[in-house]
This record gives sequence, structure tokens and C-alpha cells, in this order.
Amino acid sequence: MQNQSRFGGNNRRRNNAPHKRRFNKQYKSKSPSVHYSRYINKAVALADETPYVPTNTFDDFDISQRTKDTLRHLGYSSPTPIQDQSIPPALEGRDVIGLANTGTGKTAAFLLPTINKLATDKKLMSALVLAPTRELAQQIDQEFKKFSGGQNLYSTLVVGGANIGRQISQIKRGPHIVIGTPGRIKDLIERKVLRLQTVEVFILDEADRMCDMGFVRDIRSIESELSKDRQTFCFSATMTKDVKSIVHEFMNDPVSVSVVRNQTNDHIDQDVFHARDKEHKIEYITELLKQDEFEKVIIFGETKFGVQRLADRLSKSDLPAVAIHGNKSQSQRERALKSFKNSHVNIMVATDVAARGLDIPNVSHVINFDPPKMYDDYIHRIGRTGRAGKAGKALTLVSR
Ligand code: ADP
Ligand code: MG
Repeated sequence: MQNQSRFGGNNRRRNNAPHKRRFNKQYKSKSPSVHYSRYINKAVALADETPYVPTNTFDDFDISQRTKDTLRHLGYSSPTPIQDQSIPPALEGRDVIGLANTGTGKTAAFLLPTINKLATDKKLMSALVLAPTRELAQQIDQEFKKFSGGQNLYSTLVVGGANIGRQISQIKRGPHIVIGTPGRIKDLIERKVLRLQTVEVFILDEADRMCDMGFVRDIRSIESELSKDRQTFCFSATMTKDVKSIVHEFMNDPVSVSVVRNQTNDHIDQDVFHARDKEHKIEYITELLKQDEFEKVIIFGETKFGVQRLADRLSKSDLPAVAIHGNKSQSQRERALKSFKNSHVNIMVATDVAARGLDIPNVSHVINFDPPKMYDDYIHRIGRTGRAGKAGKALTLVSR
């Protein structure tokens, strides 16, 4: 961690944004619900906030020495605010709703107490993590393996688009924790392969997304398989009132820990560009992407088709780009993400499938080629940059 204070929000904004800014009241973003002015966040000078001083060190937590050694090895010198405040009640056995900005370590906040429980009892099939996308589930699985290394704990990743036969045989081998996406988990419950009655810790990452209209039926049906006598963790950077009441249905007297500072992600430089039309947008970003500063860029588009077309178009203009969207096979999606993560390709064009949770190091810019539908989607999209104390920039292209 280069600049620990950024986790606490002590961020000085940089003022050297390259994009032009034009203000004109008659321009509105295409999306009916979000005015473009909410995509600009640099005019306000950010007063210096006091850096967050954690009340705990990792050594203070009642977790195994092995885990503490692992954290030291990973360079985690002190807990982030959400870790500092949600790990103690979680270790006491409480249900926790954890809200904290994107990129501030929510994964460890829910995995460390879970690993502690698993390591103590070593019972099979005692934790279940649900995430909204396959790539995020896979990332959580990788994090789990990292944090639990050397403790003889086994996880199984259960996501759609991957060979179900192999997942079935892995489940039969008896993992301690299952991590997956709702559809495939439900499928395996219906096939009577997954039996979840022994689950003691149930986790919803990106909980507001998991409990919105798209997923909530699956979540309800999965939750109904679980013992009421379990612990539940729900984490996200955003939560509307309506969704929160659904989240509460799955929980038992939860502790709410909210360490969201500046909901608008003030440490990320945000700006808009008013384009005449789509062609103008493409011309504009083609020029930007040629600049050295645009080192590693995620471009969000609205439709699968549009995303693919934009990636192809950029690639043809000597700006190699990968695309990630739901029309690709899972292996294509994985390959695209991997080559972007490894910086073999430095432009990734994506639908909102990549908006939530993905932790890709050193993304310099997020560009919204199409504005997001809701402001919360915006928060998650731009949250792919400016992670773990780093700086980041976001640019939203709006049509006149
Ligand atoms: P979130 O879920 O809040 O968006 P993540 O859990 O993906 O954030 O973490 C963001 C990044 O911060 C990851 O790369 C992670 O390794 C790193 N990180 C998390 N906790 C710490 C810590 N205590 N010290 C240093 N780095 C951390
Ligand atoms: Mg996360």
C-alpha cells in the first residue's frame, strides 16, 4: 500500500485533467434519471479529511496466527475502515451489513471472519458466498485461497458457463466453502447435488445487486435451503432503502457498519464530455486513448452488441481492445479479462457485467461511452479505478 491514507479518504484531488469541459444547461445526459452534472466531480475543492486511524491492528483480531502471517506477507499492514469495524462483530458471531466505498477491502472484511470459523471447526460445506457475476465469484475464490493458504481449507467455485460435471465432482469431494453465482447454485440444489443445510456462514457480496429484481427470486429460494441458525454477511458500496429492507429479510438482528465516505467517490477525478453523436464520441476517445496518460482503461457501454462493435473498431484503429459481455462464451470472457489484467491489452470494453467488484490493479481511467442507467451503477463502474488508495479518473460521454 503506497498511500494508506487514501483508504480513509484523505485524498487531494489532482487538477490536471486532460478532457475538455463544457457546461451548457440545455445538455442532458441520455439517461432520464441522472443529470450529467452528477458525473462531474472536480470543481469542488476537497477539504483535507483526517486520515482514518484504525482502532485495531490485525494482531488484535482473534484470528489464527497463520492468517495474520499471511496478511503480513500480502503487505496488509493495517485494517481498512470497513475491516476495522466489521471484523470484530463478525468474529463475535453477529450478522453484519457492511457498507464501504469501492476498492476499500470489503472482501477481506467478510472472508477473514469466515476463514476463522472454517478453520476452527473444519466442517464441510459450512460457508456459501454468492456474487452477481462469474468473474467476481472467481475473484472471491482466488482471494479465499490467498487468505486461507496453508490451513487445509477447500473451496469450490460454482458458476454458470463452466463444465457442470466437473463442479459436481468437486462438490462431492466435500469443500468447506462454496462460492458461486445464484443461477448455477440453484441448478445444483435442484439436482440434489448441493445440500446447504450445514451452511453456518452465508455471504452476499454486492448485496444490493443480489437483492434487486434480477436476482432476488433465486436468492430467496437458495436462502430457504439454509438453516436459520447461521451467520449472514451482506456487503456493498451502495444500498437503497428498498433493497435494504429485502436484505434485512435474510438477516438476524444485523449490525450495520457504514464507513462510506463521500458517496460520490471524491478521490476519483470525474468529468463529462458532450458529444454531438456516437461518431463524435468514437473520434474523441480514439484521440484520448492514444495519449500516454491513458495507460489502462475500461470503457463501459450499454449493449453487448455495441460493446463488441466498439472493441472491434478501436482494435482496427491500432488501439487493441478486448471486449467482455454476456454474448461471449465463458472461456472468451475469462481470456479477455486475463489479458487485460496482465496488461497484454490495455483497453477493455465492457457491459455492466464488469461494473461490480472486479479488482484489477492500476486501471488509470474508466470511460462511460454510454452513461449508466442509475447513479449507483455509475458509482460501481467508476469504482474499477482509484482502488486501494490509488488515484483514478473517470470520464462520461453524454449526447447532446
Ligand atoms: P472492495 O470489495 O471494497 O471493492 P476489495 O476487497 O476488492 O475492495 O479490495 C481492494 C484492494 O485492496 C484489493 O487489491 C486488496 O488486496 C486490497 N486490500 C484490501 N485490504 C487491504 C489492507 N488491509 N491493506 C492493504 N491492501 C488491502
Ligand atoms: Mg468487493
